[in-house]
Amino acid sequence: MDAMSPEARSRLMAQVRSRDTAPELRVRRLAHSLGLRFRLHDRTLPGRPDLVLRRHRAVIFVHGCFWHRHKCSRATTPKSNPPYWTTKFAGNVQRDRRNAAALRRLGWRVLTVWECQTESEEKLRSRLTRFFGLPA
Ligand SMILES: [Zn+2]
Repeated sequence: MDAMSPEARSRLMAQVRSRDTAPELRVRRLAHSLGLRFRLHDRTLPGRPDLVLRRHRAVIFVHGCFWHRHKCSRATTPKSNPPYWTTKFAGNVQRDRRNAAALRRLGWRVLTVWECQTESEEKLRSRLTRFFGLPA
C-alpha cells in the first residue's frame, strides 16, 4: 500500500537521509578510535560530506544502500509508482557522482562507505586504515 503523496514521501526521505544515522555513527566512532580527526557535514564542500578530514585532504560519505543504490540486496525498488522511484534514484546516483567528481577536482580524496559495509567493524577498520595509510 502506498498512500503517500510525493511531497509527503519527499519529506520522509529528507528525514531518512538526515545526519547521525547509525552507520554514520559507526564510521565516526571507528575513525575517531583510529586517531583520525574530522569535521562533520561541511556545507562549504560539494555534497556536504559526512566526514571531512582536512589534514588528509579527504572526505568520507556514508551512504545508505537503498537511497544511494548500492549494488547489494538492500537496494530494493518499491513496487508502487515505479517511475517516481526510478527518477528519484537516478537523481540521487547522479548527484553523488557529480559531488565526488567536484571534490576530486578540488583535490580531495573521496571515500564512500556503504551502510552494509559498516556492520563488520573488522572490515571497516581495514578499509579506513588502508585508505588513510595507517598502521593496521
Ligand atoms: Zn549495501
